[in-house]
Amino acid sequence: ADLAMYRAKERVGRQVCYYEQGMDELARTRRIIANDLRDAINRNELSLAFQVQKDVRTEAVVGYEALLRWHHPRNGWISPADFIPIAEESGEIVRIGEWVLRTACMEAARWPEQCRVAINLSPIQLMQADLLDIVESSLENSGLPASRLELEITETAFISDKPRALHVLRQIKNLGVSIAIDDFGTGYSSLDTLNSFPFDKIKIDRSFLMESDTSHQARAIIKAVLALGRSLKVPVLAEGLESEDQLRLLRSEGCNEAQGFLWGKPSRSLIFEAKQAAGPVAA
Ligand code: C2E
Ligand code: MG
Ligand code: MG
Ligand code: MG
Repeated sequence: ADLAMYRAKERVGRQVCYYEQGMDELARTRRIIANDLRDAINRNELSLAFQVQKDVRTEAVVGYEALLRWHHPRNGWISPADFIPIAEESGEIVRIGEWVLRTACMEAARWPEQCRVAINLSPIQLMQADLLDIVESSLENSGLPASRLELEITETAFISDKPRALHVLRQIKNLGVSIAIDDFGTGYSSLDTLNSFPFDKIKIDRSFLMESDTSHQARAIIKAVLALGRSLKVPVLAEGLESEDQLRLLRSEGCNEAQGFLWGKPSRSLIFEAKQAAGPVAA
């Protein structure tokens, strides 16, 4: 129902645009992007980059997060931070999200390391009737064990039907898939989320670690989230690890896992060999 609403809103928006001379540039760009996104999968413009996640104490690889990349035919690389919100608004995120799930599971099943793959899920996908089926068949088709799949979610205003989202998450968890709360500490993520959602990991938003160098408050918040994780018996992963100083902080405070430029930027090299067998890789 949500999706139908977004689609309808977009349709109406398009019609209105015909009649409004003074349509601003931003709205125009969003409309073009939304249109181009519709063909992005068929045109092979989407790809995945993977960023390593490591154990803070041992520095052993524990997994890789799949991050969506879009090479636009005219505008070049467009950041997911820019096009995901547009895909969410247009409803296209459902098709794109399914592509990400299927592709990332396929890739991960062929990795030499038996580690986890973390996939970002839009809250809109949680409202999708067949999400459970898609997760199940992504695992089945790829042969990836459920225990190697982790889904990252951020709570946003899009979760309009919370009981329904909870129900879907529980079903997915029953498959043996784990759930991580992404960007914890920002936006709509809240203690209420922790209280009501079935989750297996907390990912502290990268803004806190980034400010930890200079901000006493940011350090205090990191410590508080780590304490929260310990009492809830849930591991905590820190995002945005860029320096040895930050790593020392995470070590001394007992943070479980981390990811960031210090250990590697999101890269496609991991999938390069697998893709080579199937054909050339885009840029
Ligand atoms: P996210 O899930 O929180 O992903 C982490 C983002 O932080 C990534 O940006 C990553 O490149 C960046 N990052 C990682 N380490 C560092 C670091 O040390 N320093 C800095 N400055 N940045 C770092 P990216 O790839 O641009 O993705 C942005 C957001 O787009 C993601 O945030 C996620 O919310 C969304 N996104 C990406 N791929 C997907 C997808 O397949 N589906 C959905 N629904 N959302 C996605
Ligand atoms: Mg994420
Ligand atoms: Mg995040
Ligand atoms: Mg984010």
